[in-house]
Amino acid sequence: MVTDAGGIDVATASGGRYGPDIHAIYDDWAAFRAAAADFSSDDAFALDVSALGSPVPSPRQVFAIGLNYRSHAEESGMEPPSVPATFTKFPASLTGPFATVELTGDTVDWEVELVAVIGARADRVAEDDAWSHVAGLTVGQDISDRTLQFAAAGQFSLGKSCRGYGPIGPWLVTADELPDPDDLALGCAVNGETLQEDRTSGLIFSVPRLIAELSAVLPLLSGDVIFTGTPAGVGFSRRPPRFLRPGDVLESWIEGIGTTRIHLAAPDD
Ligand code: ZN
Repeated sequence: MVTDAGGIDVATASGGRYGPDIHAIYDDWAAFRAAAADFSSDDAFALDVSALGSPVPSPRQVFAIGLNYRSHAEESGMEPPSVPATFTKFPASLTGPFATVELTGDTVDWEVELVAVIGARADRVAEDDAWSHVAGLTVGQDISDRTLQFAAAGQFSLGKSCRGYGPIGPWLVTADELPDPDDLALGCAVNGETLQEDRTSGLIFSVPRLIAELSAVLPLLSGDVIFTGTPAGVGFSRRPPRFLRPGDVLESWIEGIGTTRIHLAAPDD
């Protein structure tokens, strides 16, 4: 747990009740939050942020939404959808916020996204009640191999699920820590050059709306992950198109949450 005093080891602070399995915490989220309010910071330590892994290492379900900002639908030449355009990133593609990720070819693209993590199971949840089912928010990259994504008449799930193509982090922030969790600046940069910049208030389907829509179809389970979609500025819509190259550093940030930093490598590095 990250606090103003430094890092707190949850397993130690909770006397072994929680940790080290993060997903057991999501299964008991409300009780964990109540207990965490009383954790002592006496044993807080200087946190080596670069050593952090994913705050959600192995979710049971990962939902991802395409064309969820008007600006990105326009640059993709697509009509904004009337229902969320949903696919999955297979869970084994997720990685941590400071990982080195091997490129799978020369058409690999960036997509900064707000990521919501489910706390309390959500089954047929109303939009007005949806935030109470969210454990917190984090920063994600929906890295996409455009060649694989558009092969075979379109296979979004596979083309966005290569090894390491779902970095998230650097940590989870609860919604109450954000002035307005529905309006956060987000962006990403390659080698220091900003390529995407927008606000999550531009989402066509907001976080609570997505939870209502998805949970009308199937239950969302504790620790599940929702990649909410990317704004304009991706590489394949640029003229000429631009893609990630070995040696590139991809930084992604969301206001009030933090910044991830991914190093891209050639497959044989
Ligand atoms: Zn995406």
